[in-house]
Amino acid sequence: MAASARTLYTARWVLPIAQPPIEEGAVLVEQGRIAWVGPADQHHATEDTALVELGEVILTPGLVNAHSHVELTGLRGFLEGLDFREWLRTLTIVRRDLLSDADLLDASRLGIVEALRHGITTLADCTDSALPIVAMRELGVRGIGYVEVFGPDPVQCAEAIARLRQRVDALRTGDTALVRTGVSPHAPYTVSAPLFRATADYARGERLPMAVHVAESAAETAFVTEGAGPFAERLRARGIGVAAQARSPIALLEDTGVLAAEPLLIHVIRADHDDFARIAHHGATIVHCPISNAKLGHGIAPLDRMLAYGVRTGLGTDSVASNDRMHLLDEARQAVLCHAVRSGVPDSLSAHDALALATRGGAEALGLAREVGTLEVGKSADLAAFPLTVGSVGPVFDPAVTLVHVLAGQVTASLVTVAGRELVRDGCVTVSHPSWEERQQVTSGRLREWRRTGAL
Ligand SMILES: [Zn+2]
Repeated sequence: MAASARTLYTARWVLPIAQPPIEEGAVLVEQGRIAWVGPADQHHATEDTALVELGEVILTPGLVNAHSHVELTGLRGFLEGLDFREWLRTLTIVRRDLLSDADLLDASRLGIVEALRHGITTLADCTDSALPIVAMRELGVRGIGYVEVFGPDPVQCAEAIARLRQRVDALRTGDTALVRTGVSPHAPYTVSAPLFRATADYARGERLPMAVHVAESAAETAFVTEGAGPFAERLRARGIGVAAQARSPIALLEDTGVLAAEPLLIHVIRADHDDFARIAHHGATIVHCPISNAKLGHGIAPLDRMLAYGVRTGLGTDSVASNDRMHLLDEARQAVLCHAVRSGVPDSLSAHDALALATRGGAEALGLAREVGTLEVGKSADLAAFPLTVGSVGPVFDPAVTLVHVLAGQVTASLVTVAGRELVRDGCVTVSHPSWEERQQVTSGRLREWRRTGAL
């Protein structure tokens, strides 16, 4: 499974991100770390170096998916066409009533296999079950598992935070160099202000990574700024008092101490200059999810402002329940297209910029830039190779353009390594098991039957 102590990978193109593309390039990996990057003909492999000629591929840093929910992999396509409130309601019912822990673990494994197939080596995964953390450790990818906490009623706060602390304290004892445990107060319409404050205090005190869905929908803004709209109505129907809380969802996070814990902010579509100034001031980071944002009808996030304010920003797919694919190159392509549509300026976000967001940007947003995100000497050998030999690809004038605009959505990686360990070799995921897929077929049959009987 592991590569030799020293392995030299050669490729038609190497894209280090930290420097311009190298045609006929090579990367030397030694004991799981990058030991050299440069033109292949300038490296003379010694006798104890294994030579792996990858051929007609583009070799990049492993992609960083800064927002996923791999436990929902079995719900791809299941929530199609529902408005956001119904989408959330159905998702909650299905997860609670129809999916067992075994189902969620298999779904998590299959989500990680899909990630690897598409060259993703790092996942920032938000999870209710915490089973994605188990699956990430099992399969050898890098990641942060943010354990979610919910509780829109302030009276639930003490119990919710006690349970979160208990779960996270237990999970953290299993943290490794590759996989860390974090926390995620889910979103302003599912978490009360006291619970935001308590979670932020816990995260700051324990130096835990934190992630929050925020500024995603118009309904969320109405909920926070006016105590009105569909989320407010739903809570009032449950007997929970709702009032206007803050000038904006981002301001709510600042008021409750969440921004001071330097969280990863997920979505951030509805935010003004003042919000971005607050985000930048506190050193919070953002994950941009253009496909999920578009598919759920939430809009195009102001990526230009994120970048203009110097906010460390990555790309995320969100779950396949709101995206259908977990293909980060596809996300990079959509980021370029959405940016051009929003700004009216072609190439205002270049393919090179988008690829940087999918690698270095994501690593920076997750606080992992010292380890991954670029091909530089000393960093972990997290690599992905994308073949140029699939379908209609050539000619290649600029490999970043080819990756982002031609191979996006259609290519699978021929090689993926994490810390030098080959998790995809010759296009095959070395750590997958057919029983996961077989069991998921049974689960999806059960979901179809539930819908057929009219429960939805
Ligand atoms: Zn999400």
